[in-house]
Amino acid sequence: MSSDRLSSVSLYPLDPAAAPEHQLLGIFGTGDLGRSLGQRLLHSGYRVVYGSRRPQSCGPLPQGAQAMSHEAAAQSASLVFLCIHREHYDFLENLAPQLQGKVLVDVSNNLKKNLYPEANAECLQRLIPGAHVVKAFNTLSAWALQNGPSDASRQVYLCGNGAEAKQAVAEVATKLGFAALDKGSLSAAKELEDFPLQLFPEWRMPLYVAVGLNAFIFVYVLIREVVYAYVERGEDDSFRIMVSLANKVFPIVSLIMLSLCYLPGVIAGFIQLYRGTKYRRFPDWLDRWMLCRKQLGLVALGFAFLHMVYTLIIPIRYYVIFWSSANTVSKIRENRTSVFDTTTAWRSDSYYSMGILGFGLFLLLGITSLPSVSNALSWREFSFIQSKLGYLTVFFCTLHTYLYGWDKFLRSYKWHMPPAYMLSLLLPSVLLVLKLLLLLPCVDRSLTRIRQGWERTGTQDSGGKPLLT
Ligand code: NAP
Repeated sequence: MSSDRLSSVSLYPLDPAAAPEHQLLGIFGTGDLGRSLGQRLLHSGYRVVYGSRRPQSCGPLPQGAQAMSHEAAAQSASLVFLCIHREHYDFLENLAPQLQGKVLVDVSNNLKKNLYPEANAECLQRLIPGAHVVKAFNTLSAWALQNGPSDASRQVYLCGNGAEAKQAVAEVATKLGFAALDKGSLSAAKELEDFPLQLFPEWRMPLYVAVGLNAFIFVYVLIREVVYAYVERGEDDSFRIMVSLANKVFPIVSLIMLSLCYLPGVIAGFIQLYRGTKYRRFPDWLDRWMLCRKQLGLVALGFAFLHMVYTLIIPIRYYVIFWSSANTVSKIRENRTSVFDTTTAWRSDSYYSMGILGFGLFLLLGITSLPSVSNALSWREFSFIQSKLGYLTVFFCTLHTYLYGWDKFLRSYKWHMPPAYMLSLLLPSVLLVLKLLLLLPCVDRSLTRIRQGWERTGTQDSGGKPLLT
């Protein structure tokens, strides 16, 4: 989970060096999470006592842990983890006297969103008003707890109404090797409980776009390359679907999606110029678009990679081998030779070179978007790669496509349909022109001032200076 998805405050234990050896922690429930958590707590030096319905026959527990009744466990530990499902919370009401003043950590999740009108942690607080309920650890799996913190699950989000109770839980989380992040009061519990139920929310839009574009471009090239040949010339070119058509569709989708990754930034720039301020919210659609730029770029990189692999297998295709040998044989028979054309050599080398450079930079963009790499970069380094080198990538890939068209450009229409690669050039060409406009010194100066806080209207505008200087 990335920390930017849930804005929070880092909590550090009051005394990180304090040895937990003598602290006894309680766990209600000897199921999957209870056992994994108990094992980690024991490895971190805590003593653990389980509260169970069947303390004598609750199955194998981590070595060193004790099992007893819920009442006894509640009495002996000052902090208790509730590793039981919410639908079984009712029995806790009878334990209210034993749990009075104790810190109760609610780790529960639900099977789907909005299953209950109130959050599980709020329900728990209502059942035991005298306890200090803290919602925490629910975003970690039993597996992650057992294996220790990894890059993917290093954070423990928590929320609760008592500062001391949250501090106590944060201390335990830190001792277990996790970073505790405070999400505020218990009213944030619902958000934390919904979090594990999310299914790739940032990937949804990029994947819909990818599926839609692939379907559209595939049908387009199918009509142009296969149906046209069949109807007009009676030729069956359907075998081309597997490699030739795939190798047309993927680069086109990749270039369009790469442009879609950079277009919202340029649109945002023009909106700020038009409004003369950066302090007004962008429209929702633009906000949502900007939030999935990384995913758009990564999906685009995936298609660029497929294009590269399909291109590498061209020389071993039966179709290519057949026609190249047939061509050689017919030249020998007719005693013909071809003349070396330097212009064609330049065009073909430039085309491949631009493609290789574009793909190389594209890979660099993908690698630097990985959290482990981007965390190691300064903001300036990150924005240099993602912005400056990003536009250079768009430029190389667009030039690669223009060189592919070369002198066939704006010719070879079939049924009035232009070649498919021309469709892919529209968006990146517009993007590059708009970006060039933003880079004009007078425009760039104005945009930089706006991004530094200058506003066209209001007090700072009293001089009535024009925005574009
Ligand atoms: P589990 O394996 O089914 O264990 C639940 C435990 O609750 C049982 O072992 C049982 O312990 C106790 N229990 C069952 N029925 C009960 C009842 N009627 N009254 C009182 N106690 C009862 O579940 P789990 O996977 O450990 O999950 C426990 C909680 O952690 C759930 O709220 C879940 O949403 C949350 N969680 C789980 C994971 C995970 O990876 N598993 C991750 C995050 C959060 P005794 O027999 O000892 O009483």
